[in-house]
Amino acid sequence: MCETSSSICSSPIGDLIISYCQKGLHSICQISTINDQSFIPDENQTIEIQSSSGKIPIPKSCLNWLHTYFHSPNHLAKIPELCPNIVSKNDSFQENVWRTLLNNVHFGQTVTYGQLAELAGNKNAARAVGTAMRCNPFQLLVPCHRVIRSNGDIGNYSGGKRNNVKYWLLNHEQK
Ligand SMILES: [Zn+2]
Repeated sequence: MCETSSSICSSPIGDLIISYCQKGLHSICQISTINDQSFIPDENQTIEIQSSSGKIPIPKSCLNWLHTYFHSPNHLAKIPELCPNIVSKNDSFQENVWRTLLNNVHFGQTVTYGQLAELAGNKNAARAVGTAMRCNPFQLLVPCHRVIRSNGDIGNYSGGKRNNVKYWLLNHEQK
């Protein structure tokens, strides 16, 4: 297994916890205290390291990507390296869903759970897509916030605890 380090970074949607090894990112997610009640977005908040633990410095590519996503999205480049031990080449449906979403649903776009299931190769697997979204280890990078319901509802984010965050992100991408 990998030796990982982690950092907490400020962002417009609150502090993010980022975990990584020498090979790439292991996870990125909002700190656990953020929910629909406590969410206080600040679109001017810069991406800055608040604290770090471990021996490995946070990949610059990750900080750059986050900065670009929030503050200069017209220049969004390819996402930072993900650790191959997290996103392996083995073709579980879940990983296939993540990859499909990452490669096919770009900034400012949305897709329904059913469409994503079909894109990932099983049009009857909308429910499994929902599960894959809840288990997504790479918030923002693998854009599970762009997956919405077929009736136009935005659907749940973080199991329904952070729907305001999803709404904020979708709105951010429409500006
Ligand atoms: Zn690793």
